[in-house]
Amino acid sequence: MSGRNSLRWILLACALTFLACDRDKDKAQAQAQAQVHTPPATAPAETASPTLNLPPDSGPPPAFDGDRAMQYVKDIVKFGPRPLGSANHKKVEEYITAHLKGDDVEHDTFTADTPAGKFPVHNIIAKFPGSKDGIIVVASHYDTNYPLRNTSYVGANDGGSSSALLLELANQLRAKPRDGYSIWLVWDDAEEAMKPDTEVDFMTDSLYGISHLADKWQGDGTLKKIKAFLLADMVGDADLNILREGNSTPWLEDVLHEAATRLGEQSHFAGSRIAMEDDHLPFVKKGVPSADLIDFSYGYNNVFWHSPQDTVDKLSPKSLQIVGSVVLETIRILDKMEPLPPK
Ligand SMILES: [Zn+2]
Repeated sequence: MSGRNSLRWILLACALTFLACDRDKDKAQAQAQAQVHTPPATAPAETASPTLNLPPDSGPPPAFDGDRAMQYVKDIVKFGPRPLGSANHKKVEEYITAHLKGDDVEHDTFTADTPAGKFPVHNIIAKFPGSKDGIIVVASHYDTNYPLRNTSYVGANDGGSSSALLLELANQLRAKPRDGYSIWLVWDDAEEAMKPDTEVDFMTDSLYGISHLADKWQGDGTLKKIKAFLLADMVGDADLNILREGNSTPWLEDVLHEAATRLGEQSHFAGSRIAMEDDHLPFVKKGVPSADLIDFSYGYNNVFWHSPQDTVDKLSPKSLQIVGSVVLETIRILDKMEPLPPK
């Protein structure tokens, strides 16, 4: 199937399926049950993405070592729970930074005023320069949920898998000079809520690190240079089903699916259309084309999410390899798309 035809099919499939939920697990499950429906014929059509000027398929898939990424997940998880302000959190910060030795690394640190008190927040940004004017950001949070801090919850998939994915992306990016946009990898902090969603609304008590970074980059002019913001979250599940995420920019989601299709991995990217409240939102709100790669069906009914059962045995190196390769293929397509659709 050609790229153009596959895109048409994806758009059709998405028009037929629509549901919405948010990060609150119970609420999400309830809403997902309640809001799955086929839109009536008169329902307004989904925002159409512009016709994409896709470059031809350029050969073998990009290298990505899923086994090495899996080892990083195991290393991160071994530190134990890593909620904001904990000694384990500090160790993971140091672990990430140690793997970026010799890279151009920026640290964005500040104190967040949260419903659970004031906490230090630490975003880590590794910059890999390219030949083209512009930046593609790939982000992942690395903290674990604060209300679960006194349980055995280690967030192997939630925070662990995507942070490990970025470490392996760094290995691939530093290997050779980039003929394309600069890539900035962001390990953002304090994505998780500090109080249970039943006590404080998730959107007023979460996304602390990435919101700070989005504001900072708006202030210093960096935001204007960002061509795309790709978020990875919960990407290691052995049963991999990446959503067609509803708050993401439609044309960038289409490019993501085109990349997956070119690598023969589209069946892992054909999940339901669900709108997630996640780290991409501050960039979406500021008009940056953004896409959230998230698998929010982690175990039957998403039961492993935010549970002590979010452990490495549920993950697979193959899933990490698939998502890592698709991210690299997405970047390769974006590098060659002239022009990129407007924001
Ligand atoms: Zn989480």
